[in-house]
Amino acid sequence: AAPTRRKLIAGNWKMNKTLSEALALVRELKGPAAALPADRVEVAVAPPFVSLAAVAKELEGSALKLAGQNCHWEASGAFTGEVSAPMLKDVGCAYVILGHSERRQYFGETDETVNKRIRAVLAAGMTPIVCVGETLAEREAGRTKDVVEQQVLGALKGYQAAEVANFVLAYEPVWAIGTGRTATSAQAQEVHRALREQLGRLFDVGTAERVRIQYGGSVKPDNAAELLGQPDVDGALVGGASLKAGDFAGILKGA
Ligand code: PGA
Repeated sequence: AAPTRRKLIAGNWKMNKTLSEALALVRELKGPAAALPADRVEVAVAPPFVSLAAVAKELEGSALKLAGQNCHWEASGAFTGEVSAPMLKDVGCAYVILGHSERRQYFGETDETVNKRIRAVLAAGMTPIVCVGETLAEREAGRTKDVVEQQVLGALKGYQAAEVANFVLAYEPVWAIGTGRTATSAQAQEVHRALREQLGRLFDVGTAERVRIQYGGSVKPDNAAELLGQPDVDGALVGGASLKAGDFAGILKGA
């Protein structure tokens, strides 16, 4: 990644870890996170909502940041089962993952709802991590760039360059998530480059150069360094390998 962009390595725990397991994991991650140069690499974890408050307390004074896995677009109200952006901010989150492919696939997330959720995250004073990515069928049909650019267009519609400059995008090819089949570093770089060029067209080159674009999809200790070494790969969104302290620490070493 360009030296001007601080890398962001984030662990997306998905629906894993009880409260006690969550606390045990972050205790093990504090050391490896502290060992990194904070001006070059940021580290975050996204535990399930029920563990956020206790994990935040455990992380006080540490270099590790906290992320929510999703949030509603309204600040409060009659939305049974939902969690709002002000709640995530209050509990200590700096980031919120939005539009993850599992949310799109299983919970009806669309580019329009991602767009609305971004507003809530910004209003609460946090940073969105906006996920995009193509399915295997879309890649095989040669539609990868079309698909991810459409997702970016829908998610970012109506936002100003000054807002977008601070966003994090995550390119997560659906066929690489949880499959053990990672994109090659060249495949990742190609899409990241295309996304940055799109940001340059939609906003301006300065904005495009500031946006951090993470790669996600079967990132492991043995492929992290090569992926993170690509000029437009500014971090990783890690699922499976973020659930074991040794694996996540191994990925951090590659940053
Ligand atoms: P994975 O998940 O690392 O298990 O492939 C990545 C993600 O879904 O963010």
